[in-house]
Amino acid sequence: MGKADRRIALVAAFLVALLSARSDAAQEWTDVRVAGPFVCRADFPMQGLERLLGELAGLQNDLATQLGVRPPAEPIELYLFRDEPSYRRYLAYYLPNMPYRRAFFFKGQGPGKVLVHRSADFEVDIRHECTHALLHSTLPMVPLWLDEGLAEYFEFPPEQRAHGNPYLRSIKWNVRFGRTPRLDKLEREGDFSKLDQSDYRDSWAWVHFMLLGPPEAKAELTQFLADIQASGPPGVLSERLAARIPDLAHQFSSHFTDWRQDDPSGVKAMLGKMGGLVN
Ligand SMILES: [Zn+2]
Repeated sequence: MGKADRRIALVAAFLVALLSARSDAAQEWTDVRVAGPFVCRADFPMQGLERLLGELAGLQNDLATQLGVRPPAEPIELYLFRDEPSYRRYLAYYLPNMPYRRAFFFKGQGPGKVLVHRSADFEVDIRHECTHALLHSTLPMVPLWLDEGLAEYFEFPPEQRAHGNPYLRSIKWNVRFGRTPRLDKLEREGDFSKLDQSDYRDSWAWVHFMLLGPPEAKAELTQFLADIQASGPPGVLSERLAARIPDLAHQFSSHFTDWRQDDPSGVKAMLGKMGGLVN
């Protein structure tokens, strides 16, 4: 790093520090807890959230064991708001130029930050955004579709991820009629605002297939992420999968045709998702 670059970095670090000081001064946090790599601050008492906080600590472990993603080198800041008005006031003050979203993850020079307010989707939103935060804390980049597919997968509690996601019904229906979602089409989408609900569902489906389908698919995903982590050129995952699994579309279809659906709470979660935008 050259001298000029270092100066830019120092200025950026100073601005981040200034913003943090401003944040501490202006916002009173009622409760602070640590859960795995997450430092959680809330403007309400967090009694009763122990199970969820425990799950967040487990989420890091899940990403490590299932994807081989390294633990973050720095803490991730999680900010929880008692209701939507409180959350909106915070956004209006600190992020006045950002288009409104039901929950946020963002990362600049410093630690990643996740912002979520209490709602019917509180836990789903926290797990979704914290998955993004964990991925981006250690990977230099994540393809957009894979970023969202993984967040959609891990936003459910562990016992519901495999069989309880409401997307499963729709994907099973599609493969019954020979419709396999095009991974190469998802890979070409680089604009987050252009993703629609079917893109989220299809991204989730490819993640489900890779994590729970043929072992070669999981091995290819894991190696793809390892190449990104090592800052090597990862290539295109759809091409890597097709090279490793010649009958890829057939394998995808068989995976979902045979997969059992168990959906006691999924419909409620899907209805909640339709109520607001979450990235
Ligand atoms: Zn997302």
